[in-house]
Amino acid sequence: MTSPTPTTGAREALKDASQLRQKRMIAEHYTRLARAPETGSRSVYTFVPGNLTELLRSFDLLPVLPEINALQSAMRGKSKEYIAIAEKAGQSEDVCTYVKADYGMMKAGNLGPTGEKLPDPDLLLLSYTGCFTFLKWFEMLRHEYKAPVVMLHVPYQADGRITESMRNYVVAQLRDKVIPELERISGKRYDEDRLRENLARSARAEEDLVAVLQSARRRPSPIDSYFGAVYYVGPIFSAFRGTEDACDYYRELRAEIDERVAQGLGPVTPDGQIGRERFRLVVEGPPNWTHFHEFWRMFADEGAVAVASTYSKVGGVYDTGFRHDPDHPLETLADYCMGCYTNLSLPSRVDMICRYVEEYEADGVLIHSIKSCNSFSAGQLAMLREIENRTGRPGGFIESDLVDPRYFSAANLKNRLESYFQMIDQKRGRLSA
Ligand code: SF4
Repeated sequence: MTSPTPTTGAREALKDASQLRQKRMIAEHYTRLARAPETGSRSVYTFVPGNLTELLRSFDLLPVLPEINALQSAMRGKSKEYIAIAEKAGQSEDVCTYVKADYGMMKAGNLGPTGEKLPDPDLLLLSYTGCFTFLKWFEMLRHEYKAPVVMLHVPYQADGRITESMRNYVVAQLRDKVIPELERISGKRYDEDRLRENLARSARAEEDLVAVLQSARRRPSPIDSYFGAVYYVGPIFSAFRGTEDACDYYRELRAEIDERVAQGLGPVTPDGQIGRERFRLVVEGPPNWTHFHEFWRMFADEGAVAVASTYSKVGGVYDTGFRHDPDHPLETLADYCMGCYTNLSLPSRVDMICRYVEEYEADGVLIHSIKSCNSFSAGQLAMLREIENRTGRPGGFIESDLVDPRYFSAANLKNRLESYFQMIDQKRGRLSA
């Protein structure tokens, strides 16, 4: 799947202190990457779900997340051009558009979201958490960059639980394959104390993130847990887990949300404060990035607020109690990787969404299906039927794409959303009649 950390879009005047802090963190990170050829810093390309940021940073390695570069390209209006480059080079229309946007960006000079050039990878760290495309994507990057690949095979949670042998299997790979490769690339010895310090910081930030996400149980919800959550999960899903910066960001964000709760305020959108909360939704699937604000506006104008989403769990599920545990450094990394939403079975995903409906008192469940994401579109309609049966709340289904603007049909989406909101209203009318 994906992940976030948009740097562009929301009007500067409406940005909270935490958002400005996040923007600065991202800018500094990309500048560090741009300077890597002079400073000698080494970079590791890796994926959002199952990323090993604390471990990478314990070797002073800089993470690069191609999914985030792809979504950033879309938010800057560049993905159309990049996808065209990839298709011209022979990639089919059906290939995941994150892959094509990333490939096109590389061929167009590999300029990152801040306009600075990204360094070539010194290592491709392939954490495999549930999507086969990850394998093919890094096969292609290995060919293009002539960079080594180390693969962490993360067993799928087929039965909805993590067993001791699954954990041992991942830990053995970390110890025997991943860490030796990181030592070789960085020229540094594995320092478990340093890793523990990073993990302790992760746990602090995770605690604050969960408090922020769970604030949506209130009425009105002070946050939008889908569009707004894109910003909230940014640092923890990407290059900053385990850093002091991330701890400061989440402490500040939590205080801002607490303040909104105290004032009884709803979420802030790029257009300002949302009006009356009319619909509380649980949303499955990532947002569209090419028309992010237009898409958000379609909900906000109707008073529709996402109170929970699965997208905000693709880079880690923390609201079930999991925290990175500094006392068991490799085991906790294994559990984190196996616990990402992308690594959960369909029944586990259904359970999670049904739980959210009850916990967050949602009026309905909406699936935003992604045309080019074969991994996660499969099974969504069956999931929706099951969720409707179990919760009795109406389900809605819309489709566009992540970063290919050709698949965003504003009129069609708006129509479908309006019909869906009417359906919720009718159902409420029937219940109260
Ligand atoms: S196919 Fe879907 S899950 Fe896989 S990389 Fe693409 S967007 Fe992510």
